Amino acid sequence: MGTVTAERLLRAWESTLAEQTVRRAAALLAVCRDEDTTEVARWGVAERDAALFDLRGELFGTQATALAECPDCGGQLEVPLDLRALRPRPSGAPTDAVSIDGYRVRAHPPSTEDLLAASLGADEEAALEALLARCVEQVLTPAGEELALAAVPARVGHRIRAHLSSSLEDVDLDLALTCVRCGSTFHAPFDIATFLLREVEVWAHRLLAEVHVLAGAYGWAEGAILGLSARRRRSYLDLIEGVT
Ligand SMILES: [Zn+2]
Repeated sequence: MGTVTAERLLRAWESTLAEQTVRRAAALLAVCRDEDTTEVARWGVAERDAALFDLRGELFGTQATALAECPDCGGQLEVPLDLRALRPRPSGAPTDAVSIDGYRVRAHPPSTEDLLAASLGADEEAALEALLARCVEQVLTPAGEELALAAVPARVGHRIRAHLSSSLEDVDLDLALTCVRCGSTFHAPFDIATFLLREVEVWAHRLLAEVHVLAGAYGWAEGAILGLSARRRRSYLDLIEGVT
């Protein structure tokens, strides 16, 4: 399982249970990568999601199967995914300064913290405004004078919004699917945070069940069982179940 041990992943899963999904993904990353949660929550979301894709690859491999429901016939689809192709490629620039109609706009890519703060009790329009206020750090006029965001001409403001929205598109993954039953085509969103958290949830429950059986059969301590490789745990479980 790479550098993330079963014990660490189990600890990460347990310590993030009470958090909401967006913050939970950041917390999971932080524990697995030995980083500070507050710091990870400040990463741009594209950077965060790229790290989540990497973590998933390390834990469970780069191939995955997503489940989707056809909106027309209700059929369940198993969608094979190559996660390497879906992983966002963040530019790596911590703060982008862009020129819009001669205005110099300095903004940082939206982070987990920005998204959480901006979406609190807001509709979509208000959330984008709040996000803008958090992410835009400085606007300079063509003459080089600093300008408050509210004083920016409407056409420039519009393009700043478009610039910010495009930085979120990197992480807004959309799968184009065709139903094998009725042939209908449709789109389904794919969110690596939700996907990985669900997988870790299933993994954790299965691991705890294994610990339960092995501890009962051999009297080993939890730490010792978690220290075994997945293959060894499986072999002992097979012996207990009488499978050779
Ligand atoms: Zn269908």
